This record gives sequence, C-alpha cells and structure tokens, in this order.
Amino acid sequence: MGEKSSGGSLKMKKVGFIGLGNMGLPMANNILKADIEVNAFDLSKEAMQRADELGMKTKSSASEVIENIDALITMLPNDKAVENIFLKEGLLEKISKNMIVIESSTINPEVSKKVSKKAKEMNISMLDAPVSGGVKGAELGTLTFIVGGEEADLEKAAPLFKIMGDKIFYAGKAGSGQIAKLCNNMLLAIHMCGTAETIAMGVNNGLDPIILSEIMKNSSGGNWSLEKYNPFPGVMKEAPASNNYSGGFLNSLMLKDLNLAKELANQSKSNTPMGRLARELYEELNNQGFEGLDFSSVQQNYLDK
Ligand code: NAD
Repeated sequence: MGEKSSGGSLKMKKVGFIGLGNMGLPMANNILKADIEVNAFDLSKEAMQRADELGMKTKSSASEVIENIDALITMLPNDKAVENIFLKEGLLEKISKNMIVIESSTINPEVSKKVSKKAKEMNISMLDAPVSGGVKGAELGTLTFIVGGEEADLEKAAPLFKIMGDKIFYAGKAGSGQIAKLCNNMLLAIHMCGTAETIAMGVNNGLDPIILSEIMKNSSGGNWSLEKYNPFPGVMKEAPASNNYSGGFLNSLMLKDLNLAKELANQSKSNTPMGRLARELYEELNNQGFEGLDFSSVQQNYLDK
C-alpha cells in the first residue's frame, strides 16, 4: 500500500456521475471545473437542479448517464442503492468495455466484491474507491481515495482521483478499499471517544482542557483527534466542537460506518471490543437525537449536563 504521486494515462473528455448529494455534487463540480463534461443523474429533483445550475448535463436515468463517457463515478448512500443500480437495474450490462467505473460510496465490502466480480466477468474495469475527507474535502478537492481493484485500473482512473483529491492509496484487490476505509473509521471513532473521555476526566479533576490537550498532544497520548479535531469546546477555534458541533462528519455517518465495521468483524470473526463500545456510544448519541451533529460531540456525553 502506498501513496500515489502521479500516474494515469486516459485522457478524460466526458464523465458520468450518479449520486449528487453532499459529497457527489462538489466532487462532480471539481471535474467540471477541470474542463471535463459531466453527465449527471440523481433521484432527487433538487440535486438535479443544482447540477443543472452548475453546468452539468442532467440525464433522466442512470442508463442515459453512461452514453459516450470515459468513466463513471457513483457516490451513493448505501449497499442497496449500489446493488440496485449495478445489478438489479442491470447498468453493468449496458456499460461499454473501455470505460472505467469508480464506485466511491462507503458500503459493505461484500457488496463491493459482488458487484466487482460481476463487472470482471463482463470485462469491465471497476474500482471500489471510498473516500475520507468529508464534504469540505469534496469541495476543496482534497479527498483521500482508498482504492481496491486491479492496480492497472487505478492508473487509468488516477487523473480523476487527482482532480477530486490529493491522496490516493492502493489497498489491494476488489473490496479492499472498503475494508481499509472501515478499519480507518473504526479507529477514528475509538480515538475520538478515548480523547473525549480523557479530557473530561482531566477537567473533572481541575485541569484546563487547553493545557491538558497540549500536554497529551506532545506526549505519547498524541493522536489525530487531539491534533486536528479537539472535541472539547474552546480548545481549537476552528474545530466543530467550538462551533456547536456543526458541520464536519455527522454522528449518523459515523454510526453507519461502525455498523459496517461490525458486519466486517462478524464476517471475519474478528474480535473488536473497542469497536463495539465506540459503536454503542454513537448509537446512544443518534438515539438522543444528535444524528445531525459532528461526531466529536461524543464529548457531550462525558460532561455534566
Ligand atoms: P447524500 O445522502 O447526501 O447523497 C446521496 C445521493 O444519492 C442523494 O442525493 C440521493 O438522492 C442519491 N441517490 C440515492 N439512490 C440513488 C439512485 N438509485 N440513483 C441515483 N441517485 C441516488 O450522501 P453523501 O453524504 O453525499 O454520501 C455519499 C456516500 O459517501 C455515502 O456512502 C457516505 O457514507 C460516503 N461518505 C460521506 C461522507 C460525508 O461526510 N458526507 C464522508 C465520506 C464518505
């Protein structure tokens, strides 16, 4: 596995994009801004209207999106949407053999493998390429792509990854992108909960959260949540914690990823007690009605209310 700095040989002229939600629309817009035509489709009328206003060619179905394109990108909410489009609605059967398919939704790796297997049987190049970096990263074109599939196909898709992101990692064969992404997000949830829990204990014992954070950040407790995303309000001005936990990566999406991680752990008989605890904490937050807050809001449940 490694970071890709360059590569890619296909000259892309026209790309199809299905799923123009919070992530998909800004990703597609960056492609458009790179002077590549975009055929767009989403089930939501509002999303289609926004795509039209940005200058994309809106189409009335997924089948229409794939006409005369060099690459297809999908950014869909869940397993069901991906299975429906590629398998039930038979999009794979209509896709031309020289186009590359980049499936960027976060889904169960087993579903990814199933769709990729079918694509392979039909000689279609397909990558699973879930992303990290959130809506901000999608807007700024700084996403990280975590890719599974044939490495040669990654080289073909690299020009598009470089437009939408700034890091590309090759994780291994089909489904590996999803597995690596779920491993990453389970660890993210665990160190965010651990960070929130620890700062609360320090504060409950009279410490200043800013001083404590600075000490731990520069000691062996240092981690990404402390360095980039402190969950305690007022420690980092720009973090969601200092802005009423708005923006950022939602509790609902963290819970979705932790549920996928649970399925992955079950399928592989992996023992993940820390992952389970983190999932329970996020389940609690979602049940409390905080699904629309940033995931660092787990801090709230460690503080006196
Ligand atoms: P979203 O709900 O905002 O967008 C999904 C879009 O897909 C919607 O506009 C919906 O109408 C459309 N859609 C659903 N089924 C469809 C179908 N059959 N045909 C066409 N369009 C269809 O979700 P999002 O936040 O953009 O996330 C997309 C994916 O990216 C998810 O898998 C999510 O887990 C992942 N992701 C999200 C973030 C984030 O911060 N939002 C970060 C990393 C990864």
